[in-house]
Amino acid sequence: MSIQNEHSDTKDLISPQKRLTNLMHQAGNKFCADCGTPEPKWVSSSLGVFICIKCSGIHRSLGVHISKVLSLKLDEWTDEQVDALAKMGGNALLNRKYEASLPSSIRKPKPHSSIEERSDYIRRKYELQQFMECDDNMSCPIVPSQGRSISLALAQSSTSYYNSFMDKKPSEKHRHRIGNAFRNSWGRKDNEHKSSKKSTSLAGMVEFVGLIKVNVVKGTHLAVRDVMTSDPYVILSLGHQSVKTRVIKNNLNPVWNESLMLSIPENIPPLKVLVYDKDTFSTDDFMGEAEIDIQPLVIAAKAYEKSNINESMQLGKFVASKDNTLVRDGIISLDEGKIKQEISVRLQNIERGELELELECVPLTQ
Ligand SMILES: [Zn+2]
Repeated sequence: MSIQNEHSDTKDLISPQKRLTNLMHQAGNKFCADCGTPEPKWVSSSLGVFICIKCSGIHRSLGVHISKVLSLKLDEWTDEQVDALAKMGGNALLNRKYEASLPSSIRKPKPHSSIEERSDYIRRKYELQQFMECDDNMSCPIVPSQGRSISLALAQSSTSYYNSFMDKKPSEKHRHRIGNAFRNSWGRKDNEHKSSKKSTSLAGMVEFVGLIKVNVVKGTHLAVRDVMTSDPYVILSLGHQSVKTRVIKNNLNPVWNESLMLSIPENIPPLKVLVYDKDTFSTDDFMGEAEIDIQPLVIAAKAYEKSNINESMQLGKFVASKDNTLVRDGIISLDEGKIKQEISVRLQNIERGELELELECVPLTQ
């Protein structure tokens, strides 16, 4: 018998989780990149910074186009994701980039700083990129990497506008407008457009009470939006935050099995679920929606947060009926110390389609 899979690369012998732990233990990553709280358990996988739970809520409210927040412990990381994170260099290196020209008048948040202070700083640091070094060329870092249209706008803009960036005393107005443009271009729903102004100013003011991990399991018997089939994806939104799944091509019974995380604002808004059909050449088509009341789940999670019950038990349920959108009862359960709820909903405002989700409420202490 021959020996198969003989790897000389040690990377293959260490699990992604172990490599992630090694990264967490690097000196610079032992403190939140934004406020200095010790032992951050979250990471912005798009920006590469290790951050604390409070800052992670603010990162999330910026939108995934700016900061995609993952949990170092609760999310399952692939080797590729860990590679990408390692390549970005960690907190020390990235802070040298994002805080290169931090004015002395601006104070970096501390572990006990208010949400407002934290939010203001984080938005300036990453969304508006106000503290980055501006080189003497047109690759001014105010241009976010995704913003081809913005760099064009910058190239076409007047010299004075450009100079204002160079002075590092840019008009706040312009910069906020850039932020808004991004948010608007990303927002999908009409009511999101309406509330986008509000979200810009209030996003960081929201106190988060916990996190909800939503596993978008699968769709069944979804509506046909292209000729024969559809290319569905799901958008989840909670308060001002939105996240989406990948697109699954040509499938009316797609299986995503994709976990997405959202912060739960204090007022606990309903979780909105939207299904769309991805179109390459036109606007994506609507494939149904649903609204899920997550209050019972959050209340159950709070009640059992400090319990030491190890056995599985049922805590409550949403009873399916003709009057609601549930396909079957949505049972809230305690399973290995985790508060979960399985939800199966009929999609609304569309001829057909059901969606299966698994919700898990994660207490803020993690
Ligand atoms: Zn922090």
